[in-house]
Amino acid sequence: MQKIVIIGGVAGGMSAATRLRRLDEEASITVVERSGHVSFANCGLPYHLGGVIEKRSSLLLQTPESLAARFAIDVRVRHEARAIDRANRRVTVRDLATDEDVELEYDALVLSPGARPVVPRIPGISVAHTLRDIEDLDHLVASARDAREAVVVGGGFIGVEVAENLVHRGVAVTLVEATDQVMAPLDPEMVEPVHDAMRAAGVRLALGVSVVRIDPGEPGEPHLAHLSDGRAVPAGLVVAAIGVRPETSLAAAAGLALGERGGILVDDSLRTSDPAVFAVGDAVEKRDGLDASSVLVPLANTANRQGRVVADVIAGRPGVDRPVLGTAIVEVFGVAAAAVGWNEKRLREAGRPHRVIHTHPGSHAGYYPGAEAMALKLLVDPGTDEILGAQAVGRDGVDKRIDVVATAMAGRLTAGDLADLELAYAPQFGSAKDPVNMLGWVDRAVADGDVETLQWHELDGALAAGATLVDVRSPREHAVRPVPGAVNIPVDDLRARLEELPDGPLVVHCEVGLRGYVAARLLAQHGRSVRNLDGGYRTWAAGTAGQRTAERVGAPA
Ligand SMILES: Cc1cc2nc3c(=O)[nH]c(=O)nc-3n(C[C@H](O)[C@H](O)[C@H](O)COP(=O)(O)OP(=O)(O)OC[C@H]3O[C@@H](n4cnc5c(N)ncnc54)[C@H](O)[C@@H]3O)c2cc1C
Repeated sequence: MQKIVIIGGVAGGMSAATRLRRLDEEASITVVERSGHVSFANCGLPYHLGGVIEKRSSLLLQTPESLAARFAIDVRVRHEARAIDRANRRVTVRDLATDEDVELEYDALVLSPGARPVVPRIPGISVAHTLRDIEDLDHLVASARDAREAVVVGGGFIGVEVAENLVHRGVAVTLVEATDQVMAPLDPEMVEPVHDAMRAAGVRLALGVSVVRIDPGEPGEPHLAHLSDGRAVPAGLVVAAIGVRPETSLAAAAGLALGERGGILVDDSLRTSDPAVFAVGDAVEKRDGLDASSVLVPLANTANRQGRVVADVIAGRPGVDRPVLGTAIVEVFGVAAAAVGWNEKRLREAGRPHRVIHTHPGSHAGYYPGAEAMALKLLVDPGTDEILGAQAVGRDGVDKRIDVVATAMAGRLTAGDLADLELAYAPQFGSAKDPVNMLGWVDRAVADGDVETLQWHELDGALAAGATLVDVRSPREHAVRPVPGAVNIPVDDLRARLEELPDGPLVVHCEVGLRGYVAARLLAQHGRSVRNLDGGYRTWAAGTAGQRTAERVGAPA
């Protein structure tokens, strides 16, 4: 009989434990969990804070009793693993209720201790809350009861979710983010709808600013958060959400190898540097799906998948851990933002050549009620047509499109292959030419040289070099949403008014890029040198709005 001990009883740990039982009825399986709960829904925590998930009990998916009954797993909550004796294959575990230590023997040990929130080292930070487990949530809910104002430090996934849910509770929120945008996986021109939605809901976004000191308030009085731009924001509640770091203290003390990013080092079978010790989830370094480099991707899907793979390996089945693409999604005040693979910022930093495609399709057929516009971005290797990444932002249909692209990436389809995907269609769900197909067509048009595109941030340079910008939208659109310097010739009039165009290179633009493409094809066939502004006015407007924020952020206070 194999003795298996698992440290950490939530996403990765509990997936491993239950799959192991399904594979091996004889094994002794013990799960050691420091907090008071196992298998709780960490991803749901912010939504109980805001009352969206009304009952706290909805977050508790299993109990030690239910796991014992169905899976014969010995689950020990409020027990902390304190040391690993690798030579004798024992773990020292402390019962936090009695402070007594017990020794657990193992044949295989699985570490799934997760990650711990990074807390900025600033004076007064001890008043700040973090959110990782049910106990954290209970403290946060208790403090939020009397708070009228809150400061959320950090604009990542958890920061924006906490900000949204505090607003749902009627708390006035200032979100402080050190960079010039929230949601780092998105490129600047894609994140603007998220900023807009947060501001419209009343969140004060302090971008490019850090909290430098917190003066704790007297009882009944708010704290005062001092920002790097000199402002002081009163806050009954401060939440620190600037990211997480792999929880590696136990592994490091046991002499297990850590990787270059500070996570536990594992091989494709999720074995650590000790063949009897495995590790999964947020605590481990993963292999990047694009370049196989070491990355930290603290996401639930990966932790759960790795939990299953490690169970297979321990049970003697073939199990291989796949590289990660970091597919992720968040919703903030009705706007969903999703990403997969690398973003343009990262591709540029790595000096990796890339083709960029922006589109603004409807979530479903425009003639069927309720269609919402979304913004899609596809990043493609211009040499191989490999999909390098994608981003999607909008109120509807975003999850479906990013998941299709993530699936295409996992299956090694090229960007051009997206054009041929046969996707389910009825007018309330999509379009007969689905937005994902459309990305494929645009990619092929660019790859085949049918059209040359220009990115929003390249426009000023092209105009300075002497290009003429032609807005091919209607006069009304041109008047209401102008790009400075453009002359207006609607696409339907273009054929008849060709002689009005000055000599030299042309850039055409429309609202989203489609009429611009038609105009560019027409002009190219009349012998003109022409580029289409990718993503049209909408991408340009979002990009330049982000640029203005970045310039404000970069300017001296
Ligand atoms: C508020 C919040 C929202 C999130 N939302 C999303 C989301 O929407 N989508 C998404 O993909 N991911 C989300 N995540 C991330 C996701 O929850 C994690 O990636 C996932 O839970 C990681 O699984 P894990 O098993 O590695 O660690 P965890 O699930 O964190 O479990 C680790 C457990 O190990 C225990 N532990 C640590 N050390 C010891 C020890 N020495 N002894 C005993 N027990 C120990 C801890 O108490 C902890 O309960 C969210 C996380 C949080 C906190």
